[in-house]
Amino acid sequence: MKVLVTGGAGFIGSHLCERLVLQGHEVVCLDNFFTGRRENVRHLLDYNSFELLRHDVCEPLLLQVDQVYNLACPASPVHYQYNPIKTVKSNVMGTLNMLVLARRAGARILQASTSEVYGEPHVHPQPESYWGNVNTVGPRSCYDEGKRVAETLMMDYHRQNNVDTRIARIFNTYGPRMAESDGRVVSNFIVQALRGEPLTLYGEGGQTRSFCYVDDLVEGLMRLMNADGLHDPVNLGNPGEFSIRQLAETIADVCGRELTIEYRPLPQDDPTQRKPDITRAQTLLHWSPTIALRQGLERTVPYFADRLKRKRPNKKGAPGADDFPFIERRRAYTEAGTWTDRPAV
Ligand code: NAD
Ligand code: UDP
Repeated sequence: MKVLVTGGAGFIGSHLCERLVLQGHEVVCLDNFFTGRRENVRHLLDYNSFELLRHDVCEPLLLQVDQVYNLACPASPVHYQYNPIKTVKSNVMGTLNMLVLARRAGARILQASTSEVYGEPHVHPQPESYWGNVNTVGPRSCYDEGKRVAETLMMDYHRQNNVDTRIARIFNTYGPRMAESDGRVVSNFIVQALRGEPLTLYGEGGQTRSFCYVDDLVEGLMRLMNADGLHDPVNLGNPGEFSIRQLAETIADVCGRELTIEYRPLPQDDPTQRKPDITRAQTLLHWSPTIALRQGLERTVPYFADRLKRKRPNKKGAPGADDFPFIERRRAYTEAGTWTDRPAV
């Protein structure tokens, strides 16, 4: 099969591309390299069945493929709030462009949605039937509402144009190839612990999240894509629920460091609790996560340890080799090439 993965050079996308290539599929990995890295898929470039395409999903594209995984969108709050208008465009125009591509090609398309569509949930755990409680005008809205419109577009293209759509509501996922500077809690805590720095706890740390290891998530995405007739949203996540303080304790322990904490204010609209009800995925996809949090962290920490070793600044304190490409990536994400002088994130 010929498969397009948008956002394929990102964290989840690169693992998905790898699995698809190893299964013998032809893979087109599309990315604008805002938060993704060529390095994430460098090991796939030797395969004839793998193609890397620099493209922005906000621009139309026609390709003859059988399946589209639409993952193109920054996922970390720091990154998606950097240029919120672009985040909305990636979700709305990007999804629209990929739906047009799927319709013309007769391809099946899966949208990477998110648990953020539930906002600050009044129902716990969250089943797919819950419509959510989302602020339309807050700093997270560009992502939350962008993803909600993307879901609407998927359902409307299915109902109106008979496009074969799938919607995965992904809960917090972690693992190797997360960007170490992306501001998400797992990468932040691991990097801080490995550097012997205090872990930055936002608020009291009582807020909860459910963390899914990336291999489990990719398995769920592929099962959903290949299941027949499943157009309604499906939650994919690990139902194990942890407070952020518990996460800090576990990460410090896995890194072999004593836990020290630096308290920071809780960001606006930060959800208090988050835990997926995965009954639908269990029943319809026979999917459940298999990797417990501690086990997943034990697989993730060595990846970050290795990257930090390679990224160590030189004696004069000059930035690491990766810092300049990051500026380029941010430049690529601004509107139509116009460079803004917004402070570094
Ligand atoms: P990521 O930031 O590592 O990957 C996103 C990729 O999309 C990057 O490679 C980035 O360069 C690319 N991209 C961004 N905007 C683009 C555009 N306009 N055109 C082309 N490429 C673009 O994030 P991730 O964690 O791998 O997330 C992948 C998808 O899964 C996203 O859609 C995200 O919303 C969704 N998701 C992730 C999580 C999670 O916990 N990781 C949770 C819920 C949903
Ligand atoms: N968080 C934290 N310290 C950090 C980064 C995040 O305490 O250094 C908290 C954040 O406030 C949130 C949780 O960890 O409550 C998960 O944050 P993340 O950005 O990873 O994901 P999201 O909020 O999108 O679920």
